[in-house]
Amino acid sequence: MKAIRRLTVRTVLPEPLRGLEELVLNLRWSWHHETLDLFRSVDPGLWESVQQDPVRLLGEVDPARLAALAEDRRFLRRLDAALDDLHDYLTSPRWYQSAGADGPAAIAYFSPEYGITAALPQYSGGLGILAGDHLKTASDLGVPIIGVGLLYRHGYFSQSLSPDGWQLEHYPAIDPNGLPLTLVREDDGAPVRVSIALPEGRVLNAQVWLARVGRVPLLLLDSDVEDNDPAARDVTDRLYGGGTEHRLLQEMLLGIGGVRAIRAYCRISGHPAPEVFHTNEGHAGFLGLERIREMIADHGLSFDEALEAVRAGTVFTTHTPVPAGIDRFPRELIGKYFGGSAALGEVPVDRVLSLGEETYPDGDRTVFNMAVMGMRLGQRVNGVSRLHGEVSREMFGGLWGGFDTDEVPIGSITNGVHAETWVAREIMDLAAREVPSIMEGHGWNGVLDVPESEIWRVRRILRERLVLDARRRLRASWKQRGASEAELAWIDEALDPDVLTIGFARRVPSYKRLTLMLRDPDRLRALLLDPERPVQIVIAGKAHPADEGGKRLIQDIVRFADSEDVRHRIVFLPDYDMALAQVMVAGCDVWMNNPLRPLEACGTSGMKAALNGGLNLSIRDGWWDEWYDGQNGWAIPSADGLSDPDRRDQLEAAALYELISDHVAVMFYDRDGAGLPRRWLEMVKHTLATLGPKVLATRMLRDYVRELYTPAARSARAMAADGYAGARELAAWKHRVIKAWPGVAVDHVESAGEESPHVGERLTVRAVVNLGDLKPEDVLVEAVYGRVDASDSIVSPSHLELTGEGGENGRIRYTGEIPLDRTGPFGYSVRVVPRHRLLAGPAELGLVALPPAPVGMTNGDLR
Ligand SMILES: *Cc1c(COP(=O)(O)O)cnc(C)c1O
Repeated sequence: MKAIRRLTVRTVLPEPLRGLEELVLNLRWSWHHETLDLFRSVDPGLWESVQQDPVRLLGEVDPARLAALAEDRRFLRRLDAALDDLHDYLTSPRWYQSAGADGPAAIAYFSPEYGITAALPQYSGGLGILAGDHLKTASDLGVPIIGVGLLYRHGYFSQSLSPDGWQLEHYPAIDPNGLPLTLVREDDGAPVRVSIALPEGRVLNAQVWLARVGRVPLLLLDSDVEDNDPAARDVTDRLYGGGTEHRLLQEMLLGIGGVRAIRAYCRISGHPAPEVFHTNEGHAGFLGLERIREMIADHGLSFDEALEAVRAGTVFTTHTPVPAGIDRFPRELIGKYFGGSAALGEVPVDRVLSLGEETYPDGDRTVFNMAVMGMRLGQRVNGVSRLHGEVSREMFGGLWGGFDTDEVPIGSITNGVHAETWVAREIMDLAAREVPSIMEGHGWNGVLDVPESEIWRVRRILRERLVLDARRRLRASWKQRGASEAELAWIDEALDPDVLTIGFARRVPSYKRLTLMLRDPDRLRALLLDPERPVQIVIAGKAHPADEGGKRLIQDIVRFADSEDVRHRIVFLPDYDMALAQVMVAGCDVWMNNPLRPLEACGTSGMKAALNGGLNLSIRDGWWDEWYDGQNGWAIPSADGLSDPDRRDQLEAAALYELISDHVAVMFYDRDGAGLPRRWLEMVKHTLATLGPKVLATRMLRDYVRELYTPAARSARAMAADGYAGARELAAWKHRVIKAWPGVAVDHVESAGEESPHVGERLTVRAVVNLGDLKPEDVLVEAVYGRVDASDSIVSPSHLELTGEGGENGRIRYTGEIPLDRTGPFGYSVRVVPRHRLLAGPAELGLVALPPAPVGMTNGDLR
């Protein structure tokens, strides 16, 4: 009989072992090798069979074994040392404490998914892994983040294969009591309740679980509580499952419920209230609406004033240029849930609706776009690599009216990865032994002096570990697909620990092109079976359950990999998760990535491979576009100008095969007298020395603190001071400026000295500007100048503020001197933009006034 409900009975640990429970309940174990060693020594066999999950370990370990450990002085000393180390980690000052700056007292970080450890399967892909790495790194650096997310009762699905290679999904129910979580309770012991009013008098309730990620608390909302009706109980059933309305409810719980959970947690624990709120992708965007509601209710602000106060302290990160990754809801649905006085009390629904409106030229006015709302609710917005920043400025530039794409206020911070999570222990040990300064975060050049034989020895160990793990997984998968043991003898010989190993593992949306390598199956077969320089490929990835196309791609790969002639050289390993990723990024010599440029916003798996001494073979997209330097791996040429997708695939696949056979394999098998591939190892060392410090999440987090969190905290304080005087002032000023702007014009521009200009001279510019009802202090009048291209556009313009020289009836004369600092085609223009000390930049309002016709010395050649 099948159980209708599942629960986990926790072991009662003997008194001397109680400390184990504390260790288990802090997820720092997931990146702390000494603690993992301690768990392993509780019962090494069981440790492997519970897949290194310490909660399961303590649940299943034999009480007699525990009784013995409770008397084992050596074990108890190690337990004490591990606890001491944890306490020290949790309390000693770290980077943020010594950074000294006026950083925020706390930052709330909202994400729909978190990848912290395989034992907490609450992630589907890169977004969640990044969120997990962000929290762990915040903990390591002492950055006071509180994470907020949802606890999905079935997590994301686990994947297996049917006999004919079709993806099958399973949704094993998780029991929060069997996870390293504790329920957040009021002082009287009652579980904290967060509630959101729904239409027709319904209510969505949730309890709140606390996961401790080192120093960082992570609050996970869970709607599976008895006071909910059955539909409400199911809101947090699955990650990215269900239809539109289900999704909306999840996002309301995350955003609105998440803010309420933080308020409860801070009240109970005494944790300082967040000054900055970080919206990690649009899904969490409703947090801004809840904060507007709070400001209106608690401080008597108007909607517009509250909006200014909230925006100032909100950071929004966009994570994808792929339309399917951006949530868009029908406007009626938003009207249904936010109308009346349901979810957000007195917040006017028409104002909510206008925040998510796609007001740009090709926008769809019938939808509510969560990314667009995110950009309107956050004064600071970023993409996740330099290229993705550019792509996002193009994509969303329409929200900022007349500004050139370059000036659209979307910046970028390139993602990074948490080394302690992703770097194999042997590599960590090698670094600690050979280049100890790296452990303190500097001296990466020391890598260049590490003996190549040492690196090669460790790489061999990691490759072999991958091969053994892959055989185990392959055997399990074939059995599950119905094969008998007798048919599987070949698996003992599948893959070879000395063959060049290429890895390809990621989610399977179409833009990642899982099957590009299959474009010419004979060519691929020849690479795999090359008698001199064979290649083996390890593949993994899950398709979204609703993505039939993605499942077909997996089936294509599986069918090819099933073929008898190549099955020892190409394998598909089901159920890609963090545990499999850890073995793959460490064991593969080459990490391959061939997305359709520029759709990969950043990509992080290649960074993990690089830190383990792997080399990247990738389309120049995301992070690789930024940091490929010609010597740290290979760039697959991209035909991204081509409009014919089939032809594009063909060209890019051909380039891929050629790179592998003529460059990658040649270099890998080019050995010296000692059997070492010298040129290869040079490349590995160069990669580690130069990419190492860049791809670390510590670099990323410091960038967030300096470029976004601290400025956002300053802005938020400026808004809040003196009873929100700043917010009131800015809202009133914006209202006045927006209303008066149609009356602002550059009436006339003239210059002296442009007849035969020479480099080094100055050009005097005079403009007459009509300010209409605005005052001179409301605007910035500036000359914009620089080199012009063939279409008379100013390329990377410089700006010079012009000085007002009086005037009458709102018409004011401005003047300034432009330095002619370079030869060649040169041009300038004059513009007026709003100016206020509480704006983050000139483009914030999307308002600009330009001269009626282009002016300036277009193509006036400087000599
Ligand atoms: C790192 C990682 C990802 C993200 O990889 P991309 O390169 O961004 O596609 C996805 N899933 C898992 C399990 C990972 O470890």
